[in-house]
Amino acid sequence: MYDIIVIGSGPAGYVAAIRASQLGLKTACIEKSSKNNKPQLGGTCLNIGCIPSKALLDSSHRYADALNHFSDHGIKVSKPKIDISQMMERKNKIVSQLTSGVAGLLKANKVSQITGSAKIIDSNNVEVTNEDNIELLKTKNIIIATGSMPIDIPVAELDNKNIVDSTGALEFKAVPKTLGIIGAGIIGLELGSVWSRLGSKVTILEAMDDFLPMADSKISDDVLKEFNKQGLNINLGCKVTATKSNEKNVTVNFTNNGNQSELTFDKLIVAVGRKPYTNNLLDESCGLSVDQNGFISVNDFCETQIKNIWAVGDVVRGPMLAHKASEEGIMVAERIAGNQVEMEYDLVPSVIYTHPEVAWVGKNEKELNDAGVEFKTGSFPFAASGRALATGESTGFVKVIADKRTDTILGVHAFGPAAADIVQQGVVAMEFGASAEDLGLTIFSHPTVSEALHEAALAVNEQAIHIGNNKK
Ligand code: NAD
Repeated sequence: MYDIIVIGSGPAGYVAAIRASQLGLKTACIEKSSKNNKPQLGGTCLNIGCIPSKALLDSSHRYADALNHFSDHGIKVSKPKIDISQMMERKNKIVSQLTSGVAGLLKANKVSQITGSAKIIDSNNVEVTNEDNIELLKTKNIIIATGSMPIDIPVAELDNKNIVDSTGALEFKAVPKTLGIIGAGIIGLELGSVWSRLGSKVTILEAMDDFLPMADSKISDDVLKEFNKQGLNINLGCKVTATKSNEKNVTVNFTNNGNQSELTFDKLIVAVGRKPYTNNLLDESCGLSVDQNGFISVNDFCETQIKNIWAVGDVVRGPMLAHKASEEGIMVAERIAGNQVEMEYDLVPSVIYTHPEVAWVGKNEKELNDAGVEFKTGSFPFAASGRALATGESTGFVKVIADKRTDTILGVHAFGPAAADIVQQGVVAMEFGASAEDLGLTIFSHPTVSEALHEAALAVNEQAIHIGNNKK
């Protein structure tokens, strides 16, 4: 009898399993994916998501830097060449290093790793199928951490040759001359950046008229301009109506403002969001079902409606982000162990790993206006940061939003160099309930790009030193 069976070994599942075992609970982690007779641990993030995409983002950034920016520094090199198979090999090596790292962590923490497909029979019984072998495991608690998969749309059926999803887009054997992408969300922008830097002529077709509606509106406007300048030809209000793939390429039909258009690409990436993954997970008898969007319903503590069955990560409400998933996994492990741990859902940061990066945490101005909260803002452009200028990365700005009355920081938004790390400093400050004044009184190393956060916090109360203060 286990104390906990965790189903899924992605950032939600393996983290929950490790924490549970650390807390003295007898824990198993079941994963159905395997490769070459070895369990494929780490879920989407490690195998076909965050990590391989970041490996390619880094490789392509270095190439684009050598091609376009070395000469700015007085470095002359002959035109760099791309070896895609070596780039992919490097990415694959990183993935296998990290996935075997997860196996090592589970082992070191005495989590039983079980390979097979799990089905929940009831809150105390999980059936595991591995090839022809079926086993029934007994447990006191179940944590569902089965993750998500790409949404497919009937107008652009994947053929895994010319029309691919985010997984296929990490495996191209050559740089497509022309690349279409459906969806200007996070995946569309990150993968579009990779292939555009490597030489593809990229066209993004986005159904909505708004670009990055979840981000600060000034940042969305600036990002749209910058990425169009970088060669990601982003077209808003474009609804794809049909696609046709042949041996060589894909033709895409779409409407824009009522006008029919057609474009042909060598490859097409469908990046229109992800959906929760629960295939064959719930036996009819178990009493648990999914909502109309396929999610498992949970409360703020990730409890399902069935006692002792919990669900965390992409398979439940909230942003589909690895760090949110891991924290939910930890919260649930702690709660099963009897500790009253809670998640601070307002402080889940978001990052788009383009260049420059886009990141934010907390509320944006629109959300605060809609909620009727009075606030003040302070911004600082990287064009006024000595370090940003020295590194030639002076696009973008940092914005701090604080409560008008109490000065408590309500949001931090950044577009620019190291935006993810700058916003992370905002997360730490907000976790401790900091005011803009607290950040303003904090010493920041000079010269760092983080000083832009310091100055933006000072600007909230009209005390910025390295830029004029707008009287409010
Ligand atoms: P997304 O929801 O971020 O963006 C999908 C976009 O596709 C939206 O803008 C949507 O309007 C558009 N769209 C939907 N249907 C369309 C259609 N028929 N035609 C044209 N456009 C259409 O989804 P994603 O980019 O696929 O990412 C999936 C999930 O993975 C997200 O939840 C994201 O947060 C997560 N993710 C996060 C990161 C990161 O944290 N850096 C990276 C990759 C993925």
